[in-house]
Amino acid sequence: MSRKILVIGGGPAGTWAAISAKKQDPTAEVTLLTSEHCEPYEKPPLSKGVLTGKAKFDDALIAGPKGLAGYGVVLERETHCTAIDRRARTVTTRGGKSYVYDVLVLATGSFARELPPLPLGMPRVHYLRTEAHAHSLKRELEQAKTLVVVGAGLIGLEVASSARTLGVKTIVLEVAPRILARVTDEETGARIHKRHVEHDVDIRLNTGMSGVEKLPDGRVGIVANGETIAADLVVIGAGAIADTQLAAAAGLACDNGIVVDEHGRTSDPDIFAAGDVVRFPGPHGLVRLEDWRHAQDHGAVAGKNAAGASEVYKPTPSFWSEQYDLYLQGVGWAPPKPGQYLHRPLAGNASIVFQTDGNQLVYALAINAQRDIATARRLIERKIPVDAAALVDPAKPLADMLKAKAS
Ligand SMILES: Cc1cc2nc3c(=O)[nH]c(=O)nc-3n(C[C@H](O)[C@H](O)[C@H](O)COP(=O)(O)OP(=O)(O)OC[C@H]3O[C@@H](n4cnc5c(N)ncnc54)[C@H](O)[C@@H]3O)c2cc1C
Repeated sequence: MSRKILVIGGGPAGTWAAISAKKQDPTAEVTLLTSEHCEPYEKPPLSKGVLTGKAKFDDALIAGPKGLAGYGVVLERETHCTAIDRRARTVTTRGGKSYVYDVLVLATGSFARELPPLPLGMPRVHYLRTEAHAHSLKRELEQAKTLVVVGAGLIGLEVASSARTLGVKTIVLEVAPRILARVTDEETGARIHKRHVEHDVDIRLNTGMSGVEKLPDGRVGIVANGETIAADLVVIGAGAIADTQLAAAAGLACDNGIVVDEHGRTSDPDIFAAGDVVRFPGPHGLVRLEDWRHAQDHGAVAGKNAAGASEVYKPTPSFWSEQYDLYLQGVGWAPPKPGQYLHRPLAGNASIVFQTDGNQLVYALAINAQRDIATARRLIERKIPVDAAALVDPAKPLADMLKAKAS
């Protein structure tokens, strides 16, 4: 009898888990259940090209124009799963349907952290996680004159960049003393800050929101530092929370994410999990990553393993962000205690910084330096010893360092 593999969640992790499971075991019956109404799609364009109109949503479909059916996977849309019965090996849905599984993959991703004074669904207030959110924000951005973005993280700043491209006056409130404090060093963050200011974004640091008012003209008043800022629109970029509800209710081990081993297996041997929702073994202990490449690659490994393989997931993580003409990329594992950043001067509007651990390159972060980041990835993955003095010397090509022997 063919193996029944059920995948919950139609993001990149779930989609690649389903496709990879079917490839691994073509005789398996693979079904993907998603709450959304459409074929699975990529999220990165939602804060960028989808808002500015430069990208078409249809181009962002993960499984391409033929959809998941083209891979032999059954897709059940608008199917929100409400419970897992591990003894009976069934999953029930909000609509009252029940699905039987031999092996289950959870890829429920994460949801936007809500700020209580600005709940999801409040008029003129937007969170950005789904295509429905992006299309509703795009419609309102086209009519708006003033946007307030709460939170200067990657998504908040990408929305600010898109809004300025559309000519909307934009104010960004950030409670921390600098932007992107979680993902960049000071100098890289400062370069991105400068570019926003050059595009007339009003970035207010050390500025927390202390209240919200409904103004007589219908706009939202955001109270910050004793001032009320009138906004046609508010976008909140306050981070994401792992969607562990289903897993936790089923008694699976969760700790700020579903805990999995290096094969993507949860505390139940018949249940795997992948993507934004998991904490998995990284080089410095259990870790959660919220980036596209991790979701895709982890999903693929969990899917193969759900179909009988025994692959280990050992990624070199990476992320990117696009704001104006700046293409930010990070690769590697930043050390647990951030040490000194090594700055390598680059020409034009490019920059790159490195972090090392002994004679190993462990992390690189760059703006507009795609070739250098690709070389850094190889140096990291191949564990090639590097000389710190050469890393900061632009006369010493990074590619030459690849010739050294791995340690
Ligand atoms: C606006 C935006 C821009 C981004 N830009 C970048 C970028 O530039 N670069 C980058 O590296 N990363 C980016 N990311 C992050 C990246 O998209 C995520 O890390 C990735 O989508 C995570 O994939 P996932 O499959 O784990 O989860 P998700 O993509 O969150 O998918 C989870 C899916 O599960 C479904 N689901 C949840 N619960 C249930 C349930 N109970 N029943 C059925 N279905 C359920 C959800 O509806 C959703 O479809 C961006 C994210 C967003 C939101």
